[in-house]
Amino acid sequence: MSFKSLGLSEPLLKAIQKKGYETPSPIQAKAIPPVLEGKDVLASAQTGTGKTAGFTLPLLHLLSSNSREQRHRPVRALILTPTRELAAQVYANVKEYSEFLNIRSTVIFGGVNQKPQVNKLSQGVDVLVATPGRLIDLENQGVLSLSKVEIFVLDEADRMLDMGFLRDIERVMKLMPAKRQNLMFSATFSKDIKKLAYSILNNPIQVEATPENTAVEVIEQKVYRVAKGKKTGLIIKLISEGDWKQVLVFTRTKHGANKLCKKMISDGITAAAIHGNKSQGARTKALAGFKNGSVRVLVATDIAARGLDIPLLPHVINFELPNISEDYVHRIGRTGRAGASGEAISLVSADETTFLRDIEKLIDMKIKVEILEGFEPDPNASTEPIKPGQNRNQGRGRGSNNRNSGKTKSTSSDRNKSRSRNRNNDSRR
Ligand code: ADP
Ligand code: MG
Repeated sequence: MSFKSLGLSEPLLKAIQKKGYETPSPIQAKAIPPVLEGKDVLASAQTGTGKTAGFTLPLLHLLSSNSREQRHRPVRALILTPTRELAAQVYANVKEYSEFLNIRSTVIFGGVNQKPQVNKLSQGVDVLVATPGRLIDLENQGVLSLSKVEIFVLDEADRMLDMGFLRDIERVMKLMPAKRQNLMFSATFSKDIKKLAYSILNNPIQVEATPENTAVEVIEQKVYRVAKGKKTGLIIKLISEGDWKQVLVFTRTKHGANKLCKKMISDGITAAAIHGNKSQGARTKALAGFKNGSVRVLVATDIAARGLDIPLLPHVINFELPNISEDYVHRIGRTGRAGASGEAISLVSADETTFLRDIEKLIDMKIKVEILEGFEPDPNASTEPIKPGQNRNQGRGRGSNNRNSGKTKSTSSDRNKSRSRNRNNDSRR
């Protein structure tokens, strides 16, 4: 299978070659042909499987093959993403793939001055990448029109729902012509996603790709049983003594992320936190530092980390286990990107015993357990699960948290259990 055999045009093949891709990923191979045929497509595949190119390449092909010479270019394709980081990432991809095409594109998102964005829009763009808030805002101001949109893409649809963007999506749909091609891409495939798909897509082709090497097989997983109060000491020891350079650490709460980050910095480990309460500037800076190696440890919450393109991580550490088992698979999947193997370590205290059991049930295997001298578990600690948090609506979502999960293997009662626990904690992440 080659990109050429998928029927993509020469300028796109050239850009793909420049990018260094040799063969289409499974989800690309499945999604690109129906998109090129003009069909509505619902595609789901795990984070890191190349979904962006899965819609961007055929979208650019379609736009450029029936390009219209117009003096003022109307927006012909709209790509909606949940966060600014993702919008910026998708836009970077659009730019790269359209290098040899006569296609103009731009990106708009909130949290920054709108003026440069407005200027860019006024020059006319074919492809617009946007987050919902700023898009609706600028449309209301009359700065942009979506009345000529031919292709609509909803990227990271599951996260859109997580973040409570359902209403905004519905509003955006009303701004576009009824006759258009719709594409929906998602990392997970749940009942809520299916419902959303029914309301957006017309006779969709549904494609799915399950990772060839599931995280569970390629990634070396280990659990350290440890007393809660000794976790910070243990993680610092592991990172320093292992001389680990690029470590992604997950915490369950934003507060926990900040606290751990501070402690690491005071121990001489460069670290940065990334979560919903961080300013755009801080998040971009943290991510850039982590990618270029100047930041050794990135401490993240699940929602902040999902969808971010951080390739090839040798180490992922769960400072706390996620209370929703599927998040564990997402987290450790960060080490298995592009087929490279990695190590996933979880620090587990007594109160996380149930979470561990749920995770082992989901991945259908027992994880190797170790105890390090000086960092033993507390024999007197309760195994009662962590109490749900109180401050329910302090998160960054707009409205309800429609979180759901679509991984298989666990029984539905397991999933319901972990989901209801999760619901109580969502706003803290
Ligand atoms: P997703 O949206 O599924 O999470 P991305 O589109 O962000 O995944 O892609 C993840 C990474 O894989 C990116 O670094 C991207 O450049 C890379 N990638 C995408 N397609 C290919 C391919 N066909 N061959 C090699 N690498 C690819
Ligand atoms: Mg993506």
